[in-house]
Amino acid sequence: MRNGFCAKCGSNHVMEGVEVRDRASNGPVPLKVHITEPEPPDHGFIWKQGSSSGTVRAWICASCGYTELYTDNLAELYASYRKGRP
Ligand SMILES: [Zn+2]
Repeated sequence: MRNGFCAKCGSNHVMEGVEVRDRASNGPVPLKVHITEPEPPDHGFIWKQGSSSGTVRAWICASCGYTELYTDNLAELYASYRKGRP
């Protein structure tokens, strides 16, 4: 899809990077994924919970409706994901 062609029907009528919305108390916001890092075993008195998030966007075929979702901020997300995992 991100090559401009639908993965299902082959059409080149692809809408790229369309915002996917979630609902918050103050109105619609872009949909995000979120990873909270585990608490390290030996941190100091002052310590901040680590986390990272990425925004989800859609690629949509205008011919058949097939939709793929992609997340940004991958390097930070993967670093958070890997913490605390062997
Ligand atoms: Zn299609």
